Amino acid sequence: MTDLFSATPDSLATLREARLAATFDRVFAAHPHYRALFARLGLRRADFQSLADMQKLPPTLKADYVADPASFQLGPQGAPPDEETAVWDTMYTTGSTGAPTPFVSTGYDFPNILAIQHAMMRLRGITQADSVLNLFPLTRVPHGAFARAMHACAAFGIPVTAALPGRPSERRPEIGQHLDAVVATAARVRPSILWGVPSYLHKVLARAEELGAGLPSVRLVFVTGEGFGEEARATVIAQLRRLGAPDPKVSVSYGATEMQGGMVECTAGAGYHNPAPDQFLFEAVDPETHLPVPDGEEGLLLLTHLDRRGTVLLRYSLGDVARLARTRCPHCGALTERLLTVPHRVDGLVKIRGMLVNPLTLVGAVMSEPGVRECQAIVDKEDPADALSMDRLRIKVVCTDEAASALHARVRLAIGVTPIIERVGPEDPVFADRGWKAKPLLDLRQPVV
Ligand SMILES: [Zn+2]
Repeated sequence: MTDLFSATPDSLATLREARLAATFDRVFAAHPHYRALFARLGLRRADFQSLADMQKLPPTLKADYVADPASFQLGPQGAPPDEETAVWDTMYTTGSTGAPTPFVSTGYDFPNILAIQHAMMRLRGITQADSVLNLFPLTRVPHGAFARAMHACAAFGIPVTAALPGRPSERRPEIGQHLDAVVATAARVRPSILWGVPSYLHKVLARAEELGAGLPSVRLVFVTGEGFGEEARATVIAQLRRLGAPDPKVSVSYGATEMQGGMVECTAGAGYHNPAPDQFLFEAVDPETHLPVPDGEEGLLLLTHLDRRGTVLLRYSLGDVARLARTRCPHCGALTERLLTVPHRVDGLVKIRGMLVNPLTLVGAVMSEPGVRECQAIVDKEDPADALSMDRLRIKVVCTDEAASALHARVRLAIGVTPIIERVGPEDPVFADRGWKAKPLLDLRQPVV
C-alpha cells in the first residue's frame, strides 16, 4: 500500500496505472454510460494502455451525469448484490437546478470512503486527543456532510458529538436543537474541533459571545461547503479568541459529493490536498479546448475515480477552475495533487449593473462585518415587470445598528455596486428552509430576450 507521505513518484505512478487499468477493465465490461460513449467514439479497451491515454476520453460534464445518473453506476446490472456491489449508501449532489442527483456507494466503496476521511484527518493534523462537535444539520435528502463527519471520527477513533442544529423533521419535534442549545452543547462537551458550514459556525460563535459562553478548548475549525476567504478566516479566529481559545486555526476543505470527502489544507496557504491519490486522479485542462494546462496554471478541474464500484466518473468536470500542483507538499511532505488556489466556478460571476460580481466576494464582505449574524443577497429589477429596468442589489441582513450603517461602504468597496441594506429578523422567510448549502446570491431577474 502506498502511503500519502512515504510514496515516491514512481511508486505512486505504478499504483495509479494499475488502479486505472483495473477501472478501465470494469468500465468497458459494465458501465452503461461509458460503454455507449466508447462505442460512439470507436474506442476500444486497447486504446487505453496508460494514464497518458486518458486524454482520448472527452471530459464528462455535470449535465451528462445529472441527465442520467443511473447510467454512471457500474454494473453488472441485474446480478444479485454481493459485498462489492450491494448499495451501502446514496448521497445526493446539491445542484443549483433540478432534482438532486444520486451518488451511489457500495460495500466495496465504504471502507475507501473511511480511508479518505482518515487521510483528511491526518493531513489536518488531528491527534487522538482531539474531539469533534459536528455542526452540520440533517438535510431533507442525504448529502455527505453530516454523515461523513460522523464517519471521519469513526475512521480516526476520536469522539464526536452531533449538535443536530435546527428541526430536521416537523414530524419529530424531539429531534434537533435550537441555537442556544447548540451553544450549550458546545460549552458542555468542550470539543477541540468545530466542524460545519461557515455561515452557521459564525452564528454559533456570535451567539456564544452574546450568552457569555466560553469555548477555550477549540483549537481547530473545519469549514466546507461554502466559499471562505481570508477575511472570513480572520473573523472566525478573532471570534474564537474572544471566546477564550488561545490559538485557534481554521482548516478549509474543498469538498464535492463526487469525492465523498474533500481536498484539505495541512496548514493555511499550503493548498488543498487530494487526500487519496490512490482513489482520485485530478487533471487541470483548458476550459475551451480541454487540453492539459501546465502545472501551476489555472485550469478546469477534472476528477477520475480510480477505485470505485458504485457511481464511477472518468475525467469528470467539477465545474471549477484552480491551479494544480503535483509536487510533494513542502509543508507536510504528502505526495499528491494540491490546488494552489481556492477553486472558483467557471461560470460563477454575475453581472449587476454592468459589473461582474463574484457572489462569494460579496457574501464574504458582508459576513466579515462584525455584528452581522446572517445575510442573503438578492438581485432583481427596480421594476419587476420591466426586464430592462435597472438592476437592484438587496441584502437582507440580521445585524446590529452599527453593522447596518457600515455595510453600504464595505460592499461597494468589495464589488463596486452599492446595495440596498434591508434589516430583517432571523425568522425572515428568506432564511427558512434554504438548506445547508445556501446560494450566496439569489438572481431573480428574468433573462432578457
Ligand atoms: Zn501539505
